[in-house]
Amino acid sequence: MATGTDKQQFSFQAEIKQLLHLLAHSLYQTREIAIRELISNASDALDKMRYIALTDEAYRDTGPLEIVVEGDKDARRLIIRDNGIGMTHDELVTNLGTIAHSGSLEFLRAMAARQAQGKADVSLIGQFGVGFYSAFMVADAVRVRTRSYQESAGWEWESDGSGTFTVGPAEGLGRGTEVILHLKEDAKEFAEDWRIKGVIKRYSSFVPHPVKVDGTVVNDQKPIWVEPKSQVTDEQYRQFYQHLTHRADEAPLWHLHLAADSPIQFHALLYCPRSNPELLGFGRQNHGLQLCAKRVLVQSDCQELVPEYLRFLYGLVDSEDLPLNVSRETLQDNTLIRRIRNTLVKGVLDRLQKLADESPDDFLTFARQFNPILREGIAVDPPNRDRIARLLRFTSSHTESTGGPPTSLPDYVSRMQADQKRIYYVGGPDLGTIQKSPNLEVFRRRNLEVLYLTDPIDEFVMSSLGSFDGKTLTSIDAAELDLPGAEPESEATPEETAGGGLARLLELFRRALGDRVKEVRESKRLTDSPCCLVNVDAYLSTQMQRLLRMANKDLPASERILEVNPAAPIIRRLSSLTANPDHEGFIKQCALQLWVNAQMLEGVLVEPQETVNRIQSILEEAAEKRSPIVF
Ligand code: ADP
Repeated sequence: MATGTDKQQFSFQAEIKQLLHLLAHSLYQTREIAIRELISNASDALDKMRYIALTDEAYRDTGPLEIVVEGDKDARRLIIRDNGIGMTHDELVTNLGTIAHSGSLEFLRAMAARQAQGKADVSLIGQFGVGFYSAFMVADAVRVRTRSYQESAGWEWESDGSGTFTVGPAEGLGRGTEVILHLKEDAKEFAEDWRIKGVIKRYSSFVPHPVKVDGTVVNDQKPIWVEPKSQVTDEQYRQFYQHLTHRADEAPLWHLHLAADSPIQFHALLYCPRSNPELLGFGRQNHGLQLCAKRVLVQSDCQELVPEYLRFLYGLVDSEDLPLNVSRETLQDNTLIRRIRNTLVKGVLDRLQKLADESPDDFLTFARQFNPILREGIAVDPPNRDRIARLLRFTSSHTESTGGPPTSLPDYVSRMQADQKRIYYVGGPDLGTIQKSPNLEVFRRRNLEVLYLTDPIDEFVMSSLGSFDGKTLTSIDAAELDLPGAEPESEATPEETAGGGLARLLELFRRALGDRVKEVRESKRLTDSPCCLVNVDAYLSTQMQRLLRMANKDLPASERILEVNPAAPIIRRLSSLTANPDHEGFIKQCALQLWVNAQMLEGVLVEPQETVNRIQSILEEAAEKRSPIVF
């Protein structure tokens, strides 16, 4: 602990200087959130004090916990005072001199990313809750006077937000913290009671401790999660959402209000936001819900309550059956918590299915935003795999051609042909590349629906799902497709196809390619393209192999089969050339080049030197055969 009577000067961490600069330029309307942030900090300090009082004999008698807000218009001063845990000298220097709060850091990163795209938008700040430093949106100087519950001496922190702050001893302080804002000229309205009361009612009505202005309590909301659903208005649900998320002016996409009595009593109120910050380039979101025992907040980000694949949810769980002194360690292996978690997961998946069935438009918004998170559940939650799979949505050859919304797996199954046993998909970096895939030809010809997966993770999802509704999920570049029904009668006459030379041609291809491929065989899947590559190992599609190889260069290439289309003009011509052994060298060159072409269509980069040399010699031959006489 530091002692001494002199003020010490400190520099803010570089990120805080950046943050302060951004805050100083934030929009006029968003400044109200500064008050919300300070009251929320005060409330956290009270929660911690209450928890300590409940769990530690030495601090049993804390007296009533409250927040007092005091304005003085003439002095342009606003004070927010709490009798919470307070801060020691070192806590003061660390907490208010470095970025403790990951939300602030996230905000800075997001701003930097958006600035780089020319889309900087300071109004985003309302969605983040940047914490204490938002005080500088309304104040040109801030003093914090505080005394820790563990100490008898207090400390004062002071800064004008321009790069440094001082910390020195302070006399005559009670337990807790007092934040004294010297308001900017254009923010002096916040010193007026009517104004500050309005802001508290709007943003802080669910704060679980009394917030007093001029002797009266301004926040008056009951804990709505313990009320029966029928007693709670939409407006109350919305306000509580804003209280939990700090997302000003946003309504949730949906909420779920649960009450359970057995085997364990609890109330829960969960919300799904309208947008997924992870899609905007923000880091992986922290997950967790607030956990209360008998109305008292025990932990503000309890991760044990929801699995990671539901990390987009906000909410609160309150149980009468939990002891107040439950610690983080005991939570990790607590049967009560596990039961609550199972009930919540089931409730959320039911809620989502209901949304999908009853409000398809809202569900589509949900799917666009949160599919990328929800699908993680397929790999990590086998008991719920099937229910999660039903909630995923995909683009497919059917949705592309009808211009309809993305399809679900059950809808795909309902459109399957009578004797179709598999669900087919194709992966690729984008729709354009996917649509050029030669492997798709047979599916087009036979009108079989194929799911288009442009996000590589979806292919991993498919392979960990394995099957849906008894139908094996199959990549269209698998060697065994098991296509339904019989191939429609080919219109080509035998003379038009490769004819007798085909067997010889395949043999020459095999010799030319050697162990580059496992096999060369006649294709039943191609219509126009001369060749394509298929995988022997049905579980690793071409795209997945490519990704795995990017991560691990030494990964051995998996076994592929080159399929050759006897009806393609080049194959027909090459087959007839097999009659004359003089052409063998040329045919082998063509075999190698066709194999390279098939790889390039899959987006594989080929070795340029050898390829260019080969093309060059093929071009020379083609030029040679042309007559200089023009007819
Ligand atoms: P956050 O509250 O999100 O962690 P802040 O920047 O608002 O981030 O605050 C940083 C830290 O300063 C808090 O985590 C808390 O430890 C401390 N702090 C802020 N206000 C108070 C207060 N009124 N009483 C006690 N500690 C506080």
